[in-house]
Amino acid sequence: MARPLYFVGPWDLNRDLACVPPDPQAGSVVLVESEAKGRALPWHKQKLVLVLSAMRHFAHELEEAGYHVSIVRAKTYAEGLQKAVKKQRASEIIALMPREYGLSRSFAQAVEQNTWGVPLTLHDDGGDGGHYLLTREAFAEWAQRTQKKSDPRWRMDTFYRWMRQRTGWLMDDKGKPEGGKYSFDAENRKPAKNESPPSAPSFEPDAITRKAMAQVKKWPSPTWGELEPFRWPVTRAEALQALDAFFAQRAEKFGDYQDAMLGGEPFMWHTLISSSLNLSLLHPQEVCERVLEAQANGTMPLAAAEGLLRQIMGWREFMRGIYWQRVPQMRITNTLKAHHPLPKFYWEPAETDMNCVRTSVQQVHDTDYGHHIQRLMVLGNFALIAGVDPHALSHWFWAGFVDAYEWVELPNVMGMATFADTSFTTKPYAAAAAYIDRMSDYCKSCPYNPKERVGSDACPFNALFWAFMHRHRTRLEKNIRLKMLLRTWDKWDKKQRDAILRRARQLVKNLPVDDTGWTYEDDAA
Ligand code: SF4
Repeated sequence: MARPLYFVGPWDLNRDLACVPPDPQAGSVVLVESEAKGRALPWHKQKLVLVLSAMRHFAHELEEAGYHVSIVRAKTYAEGLQKAVKKQRASEIIALMPREYGLSRSFAQAVEQNTWGVPLTLHDDGGDGGHYLLTREAFAEWAQRTQKKSDPRWRMDTFYRWMRQRTGWLMDDKGKPEGGKYSFDAENRKPAKNESPPSAPSFEPDAITRKAMAQVKKWPSPTWGELEPFRWPVTRAEALQALDAFFAQRAEKFGDYQDAMLGGEPFMWHTLISSSLNLSLLHPQEVCERVLEAQANGTMPLAAAEGLLRQIMGWREFMRGIYWQRVPQMRITNTLKAHHPLPKFYWEPAETDMNCVRTSVQQVHDTDYGHHIQRLMVLGNFALIAGVDPHALSHWFWAGFVDAYEWVELPNVMGMATFADTSFTTKPYAAAAAYIDRMSDYCKSCPYNPKERVGSDACPFNALFWAFMHRHRTRLEKNIRLKMLLRTWDKWDKKQRDAILRRARQLVKNLPVDDTGWTYEDDAA
């Protein structure tokens, strides 16, 4: 008898999702390794290993539980499904809504052209049986309801308050936020200069992971970064261990040092669960519930618990919702008309002597990871103030980070980091050296002086920051805080301002340009 075929996408690796049959008799399961996706970007080697290994572990786990499972290698996901439908004489395909625009478009085309010859049922990728807290419809309703004609920008703080009220998480019985305010962001910004972070969990590669590593060594298209040591959780059991390790060792200080950076300490007090969350090895609901439990039993201070909840139920859900509101336009929007090619040192860190940039890129190269302040205030900030093409930066983030998929990296890069898309941001996150000097120990081992703006040893961030402010003043002075900063600029004499602008021009002119020749296929599926 013909049975449904359940398509488990590479990010759908959890038995509680609606793309897995409710029992082994209800249908068979297919996972597809798409060649087009594999060569779409110069992926980080560890990310390739992670996705391949996690998919294969999940297939194995389902097989052990009695499911009929196949892994099909094909030119595209759609072709893989076509092969599987034919082989298993399936009656229909059941899947979750694809999480990336390229796959979504490819599925729509396949349905239109009747490629599979059987119907496709798509379940929402959020809410019950989905992988986000919200359904797409719920977010779209919120987005429509809160968009004002006078100011169409969506606001994360409004969304986050709505999510807190909707879930009741960290809310008292009068419907007010615990601790009297929704955000404790200001308390979560301490530098960590005299602190030593605990060691981070690491998971030894097993036979399945080692096989994926051997395959990635011979990958047929360009890849980036170090393959070893590979440390990431590839199963739900390992992801749960990583979550336990966070609550046991790092949750207490997570809030305090959320924004801090230290040379030689890539993981700090961060959760290190984003790669597992984005593969569905963990569900955001269970992580949020663990946070609430830790806060209630006193092992996680309120500010830390609120900060982590805000990342997961706030930013993560907001980014995914905004992505579907703005893609594909978000890929090409470029509000600040920034067109400089990606500097070579984003791929080859030895090409720069700026210690903050070199350390952060080297860390991503070696570990496939960088935490949010390195991403936003070092790597994103430099590209923003130097006028780097945001789409080129977006490809770098997408290819390079262990947890990056287009739905999460695109809005973060285009909106938060580069201000290319202003649909949900009110100001660019531009900063000079003082911020990096305050929040890290990078400047003390850097050949540049964070206090100087001009001269050969002056920190490049300073001249670039002021040139950026000057270049975009008409737009930026609409923001009251940036307007005050521009007043400082105006007070300096013309000679000083001209010298800063000259230094900035020289710095941009001398930036080594990406010469890899690598190509990128946004829609490859
Ligand atoms: Fe970065 Fe400037 Fe500090 Fe060097 S001095 S680490 S370039 S901020």
